[in-house]
Amino acid sequence: MYDIIIIGAGASGLFSASILQKQKNLKICIIDKNPKIGAKIKVSGGGKCNITNKYLSSNFYLGNQQFIENTFKKFDNNLLLKFLRTNNLIPILNEKIVKGTYFCNSSDDVISFFSKLTKGCDFLLDNEVLDVSYLNDEYIITTNKKRIKSKKLLIATGGLSYPSLGATDIGYKIAQKFGHTIVTLNPALVGFTVQKEQFWFKELSGLSMNVKIKVEDKILEGSLLFTHKGCSGPVILSTSLYWKKGQIVIDFAPSKESYLPKRFKQAIKNIDIDIHNYKFAPAGNFGFTKAEVTKGGVDTEEINEHFESKLQKNLFFIGEVLDVTGELGGYNFQWAFSSSYCCANNILQG
Ligand SMILES: Cc1cc2nc3c(=O)[nH]c(=O)nc-3n(C[C@H](O)[C@H](O)[C@H](O)COP(=O)(O)OP(=O)(O)OC[C@H]3O[C@@H](n4cnc5c(N)ncnc54)[C@H](O)[C@@H]3O)c2cc1C
Repeated sequence: MYDIIIIGAGASGLFSASILQKQKNLKICIIDKNPKIGAKIKVSGGGKCNITNKYLSSNFYLGNQQFIENTFKKFDNNLLLKFLRTNNLIPILNEKIVKGTYFCNSSDDVISFFSKLTKGCDFLLDNEVLDVSYLNDEYIITTNKKRIKSKKLLIATGGLSYPSLGATDIGYKIAQKFGHTIVTLNPALVGFTVQKEQFWFKELSGLSMNVKIKVEDKILEGSLLFTHKGCSGPVILSTSLYWKKGQIVIDFAPSKESYLPKRFKQAIKNIDIDIHNYKFAPAGNFGFTKAEVTKGGVDTEEINEHFESKLQKNLFFIGEVLDVTGELGGYNFQWAFSSSYCCANNILQG
């Protein structure tokens, strides 16, 4: 019988375990479907893990703004950087692509950092959780290989994105089993496919340009990459977070110094477009297999400030499984860490 079982050895599961294991008498077990910990950390930020952002604010997130702000009041980017530096992981500010981003030397450093900090925990890797039930104040967790019990259960199972890295819908299923509402799930931080009228994008495959985009009530600026399927690049990925199936507006020359690349001028020669005010509705997006994150998730209205379910005792939800999703730029790891901190610290204070 464990005191705490954490499902998911990703950013939020590992960070919460690092904090919880400070209390030496707690018996903690982390379960993951993958044979190794931190699969998404490994591939993140092009192998250099964009771990947080200098300009952290709830403005860069989709979700309940007050809930997000309250969480960052307890654990923000500065406290995260301090925690990392104290434990000898030193992220570097690198603003080449997105403003305010902190990258690590290598994602492997982040994974070994967490391996060290979770030494006191048991790991049940290569085990897929299939079901959870609750009987006599105990959680019974059934994997494809085992059945284990625990007093407290932390759901750190992330979203549906990148099934190749272990994503499943188990976190949402467990939430629903205990009466929680799931806000509609959709791929986010993902490229757009285009309609017939925008097929000229495809001719420009490989070209990137600095643009400004209006999507819903947000204005975003950054690099757009034309692809053989439509468009992608940092500013499009963040646009996809706010996009709700309608039109977006692109300014292809947002500053006075903007110059239009030759290939671009050539491609638009025979089409009538307003380069400062180009409106179009994407056909869709590249889907969960390519999306960096999942928007939507467990409704935060039903979660208290310590990330415990308001509906079920000793059940906690942290990280991406919740209905909080950030723009590109280290915001999603920061959310995973901040939510985990609030949850784990409160459990320790008991
Ligand atoms: C390619 C890519 C690059 C990214 N780069 C960045 C970046 O640079 N900066 C940033 O801030 N964010 C980045 N993100 C987003 C970031 O990785 C996630 O938001 C973050 O990892 C969420 O952490 P989490 O712990 O909540 O979930 P995850 O990291 O997804 O961890 C969930 C874990 O649960 C396990 N799991 C799921 N279902 C089961 C089950 N049934 N049984 C057992 N285990 C299960 C999974 O195997 C996984 O290990 C990137 C995402 C991708 C896909």
